[in-house]
Amino acid sequence: EAKKAGRNCFAIYTEALSRQLDERMEMESELRQALSKQEFALFYQPKICLKSGKTIGSEALLRWIHPSKGIISPLKFIPLAEECGLIVEIGKWVIGEACKMAVRWNQVGEHKVAINLSAKQFQSETLVADVKSMMEATGCHPDWIELEITESLLLEDDVDVLHTLKQFRDAGISIAIDDFGTGYSSLSYLAKYPIDTLKIDRSFINSIQTDPQRAGLVKAIFSIARCLNQSVVAEGVETQDQLDFLTDLDCEYAQGYLFSMPVNAESLEQNKEWPAVVKGIAKSCSTSLS
Ligand code: C2E
Ligand code: MG
Ligand code: MG
Ligand code: MG
Repeated sequence: EAKKAGRNCFAIYTEALSRQLDERMEMESELRQALSKQEFALFYQPKICLKSGKTIGSEALLRWIHPSKGIISPLKFIPLAEECGLIVEIGKWVIGEACKMAVRWNQVGEHKVAINLSAKQFQSETLVADVKSMMEATGCHPDWIELEITESLLLEDDVDVLHTLKQFRDAGISIAIDDFGTGYSSLSYLAKYPIDTLKIDRSFINSIQTDPQRAGLVKAIFSIARCLNQSVVAEGVETQDQLDFLTDLDCEYAQGYLFSMPVNAESLEQNKEWPAVVKGIAKSCSTSLS
């Protein structure tokens, strides 16, 4: 009896597993075609200078507009793209598209477009050359883009990563550490790598009001950044209270739903006036795109 039940469980288990594998294989083959079918789009989330209330730039965030499933989050397909190696090709498309928009937006004002890079892209020997050739093809100045990398990239004492980052620095392109505080990067690495900006992870920001220890850590991050001459961006700011806390700490830059969700390029251009949520720091929160 028990043996029989066990066998049934196993049958159910393998059925679920094989369904999962089928779904994954389907998604992978669809992902392979998504580039040529032009199903990718970049959304842009503004970065706000808290002193002026102005948008100083935006972060390009990838979306897969699936013909039947609708908009698919990068959290769902980027890990798959990394596993099957597609991230390099998709990443090149992202870089080209972001450069194109950076050129367009810098015709009317300063606007830095941030590009997320996966650690897998650093394994490609042509990463620096790819970025440079996209810049050349689009006429993009190095000041107009920024690269966002994660702490995990700095974990191993990797001479190749250091060399690559130095090449970007030499080319005049700035580097930001994304989701800062969630990885394990050591302070000595932070000083050793050419890093311009720390983006404090949203998990720190959303508990800033309720968790004094976390609030203390955020203060410490500001001190570290000042020592290393790096700027700080607070990610995931959702409430006025969080913003007030950050402005009290002289935080310069912030990003989050309080200001804007990621929007398509057209909406970013139309949105010349942000709602005046930035209490006390700017009366007219106009973007630099006007
Ligand atoms: P990330 O680079 O840390 O981007 C921030 C994520 O937080 C975005 O999610 C954004 O929509 C979300 N977010 C922004 N403000 C708020 C807020 O106030 N509250 C909350 N709850 N969330 C907020 P998204 O667009 O789903 O992207 C998720 C991750 O996917 C990104 O995290 C990034 O690691 C990755 N990603 C996105 N685009 C690309 C890309 O082009 N290339 C690579 N390699 N990774 C990408
Ligand atoms: Mg990012
Ligand atoms: Mg981030
Ligand atoms: Mg994050």
